[in-house]
Amino acid sequence: MIDYLPLRRINALRSEAIHAAAARVIDSGWYLLGQEVAAFESAWAEYIGTDHCVACANGLDALKLILQGYKELGRLRDGDEVVVPANTYIATILAITATGLTPVLVEPDPATFQIDGTRIEAALTPRTRAIMIVHLYGRPAYTPLIADICRRHNLLLLEDNAQAHGAGVHGAGTALRRTGSLGYAAAHSFYPGKNLGALGDAGAVTTSDADLAAVVRALANYGSARKYVFDHIGRNSRMDEIQAAILLAKLPFLDADNARRREIALRYIREIHNPALSLPAENYAEGNVFHIFPVLSHRRDELQAYLKAQGIATLIHYPIPPHKQRCYPQWNALSLPTTERIHTTELSIPCHQALDDTEADTIIAALNAFR
Ligand SMILES: *Cc1c(COP(=O)(O)O)cnc(C)c1O
Repeated sequence: MIDYLPLRRINALRSEAIHAAAARVIDSGWYLLGQEVAAFESAWAEYIGTDHCVACANGLDALKLILQGYKELGRLRDGDEVVVPANTYIATILAITATGLTPVLVEPDPATFQIDGTRIEAALTPRTRAIMIVHLYGRPAYTPLIADICRRHNLLLLEDNAQAHGAGVHGAGTALRRTGSLGYAAAHSFYPGKNLGALGDAGAVTTSDADLAAVVRALANYGSARKYVFDHIGRNSRMDEIQAAILLAKLPFLDADNARRREIALRYIREIHNPALSLPAENYAEGNVFHIFPVLSHRRDELQAYLKAQGIATLIHYPIPPHKQRCYPQWNALSLPTTERIHTTELSIPCHQALDDTEADTIIAALNAFR
């Protein structure tokens, strides 16, 4: 059986470093708000290319902390609108509604799965204050057009970088700029299945806005910047020392792991030829770290059953779009055809650093033989 994402095998690749990191924390007697978290924050800020990183408990909290932080700073107010891709994972939208803000769903570009910049301006209203781009499937969503819209309309550009650790964009003649450093602030999740995965829950906010970094740090610590003094109504959202130590141990391998994902993804793009399937074009690979490799088929459920019978596990990202969820009845009647088409045709095939060439051969052969 070829598993979709065998975390046991993936973490076994770094077994020694992970065990040493965990043992160091276990033996230290210090489990929260210590030097491992501080060291990871510095390393992650440097890797992403921002001045600050604040570690927190998970990716959803990271998103909420950014939005709540900008409310505390007066940049966002109750009922303000935040533009967001309609086909994102639900967490992006949960963070917006949980903070008393209003998501405005914008359709993606079907070729890239990312928010379609040409549709954003039509969605702006006098209440729009921010655009939350989501680098979905590991592919950068940032475009110069989106940055330009933010500048012209004085909007906060925010990033959900949960799926795109290490992805980047090249400006004209400039060095690589990593996702997570492209806007005012970015949320990261280190859920075990993400490209840089912890062995439990963990998240972080990166930003070069010193005011936001300070308020996010306080909000994640009960609203306190000084012991027993509470300036904000905060929460407890901490990253465990043991998770920080494990992430620090895995970070040096992230680029190599992403390179292996790309290698496999490029083989899929070049070697799978089947009129019953639609694969991303080669330029889809630009800056992409392939958190998810999407194949589209109008016979998606049949394809999934066929692959399962061949011993290949797959997942769907995602079966039901946010606007069709029962938790958001106000959007259930909306028609978002591009989003709905992705949700009815998308199938994710295995694409990770522990996948070997023989397994990739099997997956390619099976997809080419699907009739
Ligand atoms: C995983 C994910 C999150 C949430 O991260 P958690 O750590 O699970 O809270 C948010 N946004 C996107 C796009 C994700 O994929």
